[in-house]
Amino acid sequence: MKKIIGVIFTTFLMFSINQAFCWGFYAHGKINYYAVFLLPPEMMILYKPNISFLEEHATDPDKRRYAVPDEGPRHYIDIDYYGTYPYTLLPRNWKEAVEKYSEDSLLLHGIVPWHVQKMLYRLTDAFVKKDFAMIMKNSAEIGHYIADAHVPLHASSNHNGQLTNQKGIHGFWESRVPELIAEKEFDFFIGKANYINNPGNFIWARVLESAYAADSVLLIERELTQDFADDKKYAFEERNGLVIKQYSSAFTIAYNKKVDNMVEKRMRQSIYAIASFWYTAWVNAGQPDLKSLANKKMTDEESLQFEQLNQSWKTGSRMIGREE
Ligand SMILES: [Zn+2]
Repeated sequence: MKKIIGVIFTTFLMFSINQAFCWGFYAHGKINYYAVFLLPPEMMILYKPNISFLEEHATDPDKRRYAVPDEGPRHYIDIDYYGTYPYTLLPRNWKEAVEKYSEDSLLLHGIVPWHVQKMLYRLTDAFVKKDFAMIMKNSAEIGHYIADAHVPLHASSNHNGQLTNQKGIHGFWESRVPELIAEKEFDFFIGKANYINNPGNFIWARVLESAYAADSVLLIERELTQDFADDKKYAFEERNGLVIKQYSSAFTIAYNKKVDNMVEKRMRQSIYAIASFWYTAWVNAGQPDLKSLANKKMTDEESLQFEQLNQSWKTGSRMIGREE
């Protein structure tokens, strides 16, 4: 018995840790991976051979949350802090927003739509310099922030249902649903990337969609909970070879149906947005020829930096700032 409790306890800890990541490691990786297939051949020549890197490093910004205090606010915006939809009180322009609310206050409530634009600038610069490592790093990371901006609970102060007694819904929506259903049912083949004329408008529009959907994400979970006894809502099921307590498969499938495949739709939109941002950066950099970079590898020094991030994540006991 003691042994079983031990196993449950450790796995419960693992479950809690897993829940702390935006979109979950699984979905972030998939989103970056599928974005590659939307690119034109001139970019595919570089992105396809590096597709595993883009998939694997999609979660680096989350790992950095264990080491860098400034990292947290880049992943969300509690937009409901700024009044009611469509939150016109909040200037979309960073400088104007700082003048009105102060930088400290903006950081406190999250800055994802602005950070995506900063990352676009960095990626464009990497293309101008034809810097292989920086193109890869910034491509992987902008993918992360764009995907986060598509998650409804990343645009709500009730980000983990903590204000409505629905703790755990964050990880449920962005990890449990896709991990259970994506492989079998989701369709990630989506046309092609487009040039984005106004990246600021584009990302703000996605954030507003997220904010608008946050209420249904929460409401539908509450409604469905009334149809499920506690022992039917949660179950001890296998995950990565371990038996853990989590939202039951039946509850997860019913929820996905009731939100009308919202998770799949947001994943598809994320994929499209990421490929389009990558493409836009490349066009804005003057469409540099990427052939000469196609066979490049990271230098030892560059690889070491990625490894150090991984180590600080593995040894860091807690996320700095707010946890999901
Ligand atoms: Zn994140």
